[in-house]
Amino acid sequence: MAFAAVHCYNARMTSSYWPVSGHDWAVLSLDRAVLDDRPAHAYLISGPAQIGKATLARSLALALNCRSTNSPRPCRQCRSCQLITAGKHPDVQLIEPDGAHVKIDQVRALQHDLALRPLEGRYRVAIFDQFETATVEAQNALLKTLEEPPDYAVLIVLTSDPELLLPTIVSRCQQMALRPLTTAQVREALTQTWRVEAQQADVLAHLSGGRLGWAVNAAADHAILEARVKYLDDLQTLLKSDRVARFAYAEELTRKSDRAREAIDLWRTWWRDVLLTASGSAAELINIDRVAQVQALAQHVDVNQAKSAADACGRALWQMDKNVTARLVVEVLLLDFPVMRET
Ligand SMILES: [Zn+2]
Repeated sequence: MAFAAVHCYNARMTSSYWPVSGHDWAVLSLDRAVLDDRPAHAYLISGPAQIGKATLARSLALALNCRSTNSPRPCRQCRSCQLITAGKHPDVQLIEPDGAHVKIDQVRALQHDLALRPLEGRYRVAIFDQFETATVEAQNALLKTLEEPPDYAVLIVLTSDPELLLPTIVSRCQQMALRPLTTAQVREALTQTWRVEAQQADVLAHLSGGRLGWAVNAAADHAILEARVKYLDDLQTLLKSDRVARFAYAEELTRKSDRAREAIDLWRTWWRDVLLTASGSAAELINIDRVAQVQALAQHVDVNQAKSAADACGRALWQMDKNVTARLVVEVLLLDFPVMRET
């Protein structure tokens, strides 16, 4: 439960002293609320995975409880800032899915703690990560706290998609919808904050789709890029494969459903690039290290096929969010991909 990502974060300041790259408007708004000592009781921070939602939430927890009196908050030096960064502050809690879901017992335990005044800091801060995974019972339990929060409580709900939450939860929170960073923002953060070498930073920035968290992880963990190579190579093979081979692949891939999501996400970027190339668009490609392969495929499929395959990937991801069986999703998806006799 340690806040490891913040721990090694040595971010260049953008619009304030917050250790956040990009999302300037959100930082400015939250910083203002902290300076005025008028934070909302509940925030809903939404956006794609690894876009910086948790970093922003932790930074708000830092700013709210920072003890510094002579430097801008968060100072990241005081005892409070250090405890929060290490994930050990008694008044700042991170609630993550227990297995596949956030469960009602976790919400009740948090409510028990919230009933007590802060021990160390000025605010009790609770961060609910991936709250779209919460059971309906857990969401209903949280609703009770959102209706009558203690003065000293700040609840921060993180989700990939507010539509996956009860509307009554959404309406009681101040909403902040984060958007992907630009390629340039990711590249700059990688080189300046994370000391990634320029050429690698450029490739990662393009592949990241504006998700700095993904890029930072991929820079540190070679397995992420190796998996990408595998899934893109698999796709080339699958396009020449028949229905039986595609079904066998779906079974293999979905033994772990998180791998399926990762693969589909990649394939979507691939078909997007093929679509752009087939339609003669000048827009920048995501898979900039595989331009020749994208161009080769774009000569063998028409614009409609590429668009239909890209749409099918988006639909598959949506279905997985809705808990449709992963194997079924991938089987249907692979049948939606064109069959290449030769490439
Ligand atoms: Zn501090």
